[in-house]
Amino acid sequence: MASPPRRPYVAGNWKMNKDLASAVATARAVAERCPAAVRAGRLDAGLFPPALFVEPVARAIAGSGVVCGAQDMHWETSGAFTGETSGPMILSVGATSVILGHSERRQFFGETDERVRKKAAAALAIGLRPIVCVGETLSEREAGATERVVLGQVSAALQGLEPKDLARLDVAYEPVWAIGTGRNATPRQAVEVHAAIREAILRAHGDAGRAVRILYGGSVNARNVSDLMASPEIDGALVGGASLEAESFLDLLARTEEAKRVA
Ligand code: PEP
Repeated sequence: MASPPRRPYVAGNWKMNKDLASAVATARAVAERCPAAVRAGRLDAGLFPPALFVEPVARAIAGSGVVCGAQDMHWETSGAFTGETSGPMILSVGATSVILGHSERRQFFGETDERVRKKAAAALAIGLRPIVCVGETLSEREAGATERVVLGQVSAALQGLEPKDLARLDVAYEPVWAIGTGRNATPRQAVEVHAAIREAILRAHGDAGRAVRILYGGSVNARNVSDLMASPEIDGALVGGASLEAESFLDLLARTEEAKRVA
């Protein structure tokens, strides 16, 4: 049986940027001017502000079709974890998704594959959609270890998930050397890794793995997004820098709409 096509997705990770006024103004502008395909459910758009601004951003975009998410979460639902945010807290303020395992969390905050696995399972258990980030460093790529590293991260994060979970989860391939550097992976480099990820998911989880969206992230901008999105293996983009201004994020949405022919 043919599986339904995966809906293209452009997600904006604002990282630790913006103040309240700018977060709300950007979110409003995106919600007001996003392509009709977003409202019609043919193209997905998501904003991932800092935790403090999740609630006002979710409120600003309510009803527009654009979704809001957090940049991380704890795997426990509550307890003595000073400074942490739980999945139920994120859900309770109107967000529906969460980024997990971003390379900056792995690099600067001791995030491990095991924690990403626990967080993904906890998010899915309460109906939050995880975007699980994976990617190799430059030295790992140069050592020929890209597939080993990336597939190891994917298999750890998806371990123990049931087939029904796979349609409620996105994977973002984000080569660490391409994040915030202005040096994106070429479509060919990205497609190679996306195809390997897809194959590994299908091997481990069977046909249900066709539903997993695989996004590309790493210096996506107006100049490279159309070429990247032209590949059927690339289901969308996780965007940092170019998502901070409404104009530039809307431009990426419009170009993705065109490249994926979902207008
Ligand atoms: C990211 O933070 O996930 C990212 C891809 O950043 P940038 O687009 O700035 O490289």
